[in-house]
Amino acid sequence: MSENTHSQEYDDLFPVVVIGAGLAGLAAAAHLAERGAEPLVLDADSLWPGGRLSGGKPDVIAHEGQDWTFKTEHSVHGVWGGYLNLRATIERFTDTKLQLSYGEDWVNRWGKHVRHMEAGNAVRSKYIPAPFHYLNLLFNPSIWANIAPWDFLSLPGLLVSTALTVGFDPIGEGRSLDGLPMSIYFRGWTPNLRATFTGLAVNLLAASEEDIDLTAFIAGLRFYTMLRRDAWQLRFFPADTHTSLIQPLIDSITANEGYVMGGMTVTRIDRSDVGWQVVATAGTGEVRRFHTKNVIIATDAPGAQRLLAASKDTAADAAEMIFPEGLRNAVVRLWYKTSPPEGVMGGMLTGDFLPDNFFWLHRIYDDFRQWHDATGGSAIEMHVYGPKDVLDMPDANLMAACATEVTRAWPGLKGQFLYGTVRRNSGVQTRFRVPDERTLAVNTPWDGIAACGDWVRHDTPALWMERSTTTGIAAANTVLSNLGLEPYPVLYPPPPELLARGLGGLIRLGRRVLGKPIMGLLRATK
Ligand SMILES: Cc1cc2nc3c(=O)[nH]c(=O)nc-3n(C[C@H](O)[C@H](O)[C@H](O)COP(=O)(O)OP(=O)(O)OC[C@H]3O[C@@H](n4cnc5c(N)ncnc54)[C@H](O)[C@@H]3O)c2cc1C
Repeated sequence: MSENTHSQEYDDLFPVVVIGAGLAGLAAAAHLAERGAEPLVLDADSLWPGGRLSGGKPDVIAHEGQDWTFKTEHSVHGVWGGYLNLRATIERFTDTKLQLSYGEDWVNRWGKHVRHMEAGNAVRSKYIPAPFHYLNLLFNPSIWANIAPWDFLSLPGLLVSTALTVGFDPIGEGRSLDGLPMSIYFRGWTPNLRATFTGLAVNLLAASEEDIDLTAFIAGLRFYTMLRRDAWQLRFFPADTHTSLIQPLIDSITANEGYVMGGMTVTRIDRSDVGWQVVATAGTGEVRRFHTKNVIIATDAPGAQRLLAASKDTAADAAEMIFPEGLRNAVVRLWYKTSPPEGVMGGMLTGDFLPDNFFWLHRIYDDFRQWHDATGGSAIEMHVYGPKDVLDMPDANLMAACATEVTRAWPGLKGQFLYGTVRRNSGVQTRFRVPDERTLAVNTPWDGIAACGDWVRHDTPALWMERSTTTGIAAANTVLSNLGLEPYPVLYPPPPELLARGLGGLIRLGRRVLGKPIMGLLRATK
């Protein structure tokens, strides 16, 4: 955080106050600052800005007579093919060079049987076009160990699900269809395929199966994989997200005369003579008031709901809105004295596995790579998105359970455990709900207030970091136009591949004719 060297000025007028220093708020502020709008960014966290991309105290591990320091972060983040605004933001404000993932494994466990299959390259770079490109997996010999002949009975169900995905755009149509669970998508699928693809859903939506709605899953499939083969092209940051993204954004903001203040929890936004008064409580208990014509709300969804409900000028409208719930999750890192054979950077864990995905840190980050080169050790990060009873496990038990899973998947690591950590979030991970007219949009009902974040309404089909960045730029543009300054382009992913586009058009036509009966059927079979 920048030093508070202008304490008198802070209580004065600011052209714009951004509430929240996660990716959305910092992306908005960096764009505003570059145009000379001198934003003030306030964040509740006093030590580590960045929200779900925050850093943390490094891990220091004694190994082979030496202390090794590893930077830490909330979790490894993947940058997907359609993340155009995030990549543009990285290029504009940082020197960070993303690294291409050279493959992702799909590791499935049923009981004692563990099967590894490289899935990323198979899905994105083979010949069968979207939306049928998952058939490319059939050319991968290892899939035959994961599926049985009777799984072909799923074919009609698979076709219906594919048709639903290409012909129904929940975000574009603004239809959240609350209450329809994801299980509807898998009607007619065999249990084996259903369980395997549920793992894909859990990973795309970063949530436990029971927390994923049908429309959220379809939106995730459309953006991340089903409409284009290259949508599933992962890139990784070269170092932890604080070093690669958050700190460079803060540096850019402060270099352009903006301010970033930590330890400031905004408790109210009230109308004032100049426009808005932003009331914040510092960690010391001191109450600060900032005045501005322009506010950007860039908090997580539960934070925004609390803030708007507590502010008399916004409470009535906010009571009519739906704010996505905040979910918990856990991130487990384990260090080993030896390494598994060379392979991919990460992948999904499905079936009976307890964690949901994995990342080999010594193949992704430089500090881990140096340690690996010197000692031969390896380190893995795993994300646990649920269910509740698993997240309720004490850290030591969760770590032990994950370590057992690692040795099931990579038996060579048995007896090689060196060190482990568990990091949890405080229940602010968005339970993604397709934004509709009841969701707070970038342009809010209140003059002079814009909003951004991975839960905020905007016509982008993007999710997660790309939604945060896209809405961040869009919110900055709203303020820039208020200030008479030039806006930035907001980028949209390229259109679906030809076959997916044609099929989608046909299905939409069919829906216009048969739409009501189909929806009735869906609700009846819920
Ligand atoms: C385990 C995990 C893995 C993930 N992996 C990926 C991935 O691979 N790819 C991807 O694209 N996304 C991923 N995500 C999602 C991604 O982290 C988020 O979409 C993104 O970081 C959200 O940024 P944000 O700025 O919208 O919200 P946040 O990061 O939640 O930031 C909100 C900020 O607002 C602050 N705040 C809240 N209330 C107040 C208040 N009253 N006053 C002041 N400040 C306040 C908070 O302190 C916080 O800093 C993952 C998330 C998790 C949890």
